[in-house]
Amino acid sequence: MTQLVRTLEDWVQNRSGLKGRLGFVPTMGALHQGHGTLIRRSVAENENTVVSVFVNPSQFGPNEDFDKYPRTLEDDLALAEKMGASFLFAPSVKDVYPQPWSTSIEVGEVSEGLCGQFRPGHFKGVATVVYRLFQMAGAERAYFGQKDLQQFFVIHRMVKNLGLLVQLEMVPTVRESDGLALSSRNRYLSGAEREVAPIIYRALESARRLCVEEGVRESTALLASALEILGRAPEIRLQYLELVSVPDLKPVRLVEGPAALVFAGHLGTTRLIDNVLITF
Ligand code: AMP
Repeated sequence: MTQLVRTLEDWVQNRSGLKGRLGFVPTMGALHQGHGTLIRRSVAENENTVVSVFVNPSQFGPNEDFDKYPRTLEDDLALAEKMGASFLFAPSVKDVYPQPWSTSIEVGEVSEGLCGQFRPGHFKGVATVVYRLFQMAGAERAYFGQKDLQQFFVIHRMVKNLGLLVQLEMVPTVRESDGLALSSRNRYLSGAEREVAPIIYRALESARRLCVEEGVRESTALLASALEILGRAPEIRLQYLELVSVPDLKPVRLVEGPAALVFAGHLGTTRLIDNVLITF
């Protein structure tokens, strides 16, 4: 049975009785199989797993979808249970941000490019809430998806810089059979947009193969090949397509070590992100 915990006080009491390692899966809810895979990994590697559901107001910009972000706690509890989580922790804003709240965490360079450029303040909101959630959860390990690659490396840097005693695990992106990365926001896509969306992964994956299998290392050639495929779907309004080094996410001209091809763009009103890792 997955226990639903709604207050920090109740969580602290539950936490204090736990033995063995605790795995933590922070989410904003509207859980799908991507989240499910994170939960399953944690359940396999720890004695207990807590999944948090918290739609964090401070990581949404003024014109973003905070109000309409899907909230599906009952279904979330059912999925958490199916995956074997011990707890679903859905705290209130006032438990997460004791008032008056005035503290924040800025991680610097790694949070400034890519999504950071298009979503000012987003990673400050993410780093701050994740710090606070880590501190509340008191977990030994925390699980994040590769789909939000920049988020992972922002948190990774924060954990390193602040010496937090939590081990981070990155879980590969879970996709639909046609390649579209699962996302809580996919439900906003119209039928026609949903049909177009898999081209994003096809473009990224074809450039990755060009690099890994055919030895093309120049970013200009790799990006041009991905752009050529993306260009077949003029409905997609590109925000960025970049080849960056891992883990510092700086643009590279030549692939010489671990890298990632990263994408963000809009399809209708829905913002989609995706990436592929390039490793040898
Ligand atoms: P969110 O609820 O969107 O904040 O996501 C919570 C966690 O689930 C983050 O670590 C995400 O990277 C991860 N996640 C979301 N979608 C996927 C996916 N398709 N595959 C793997 N992990 C995912």
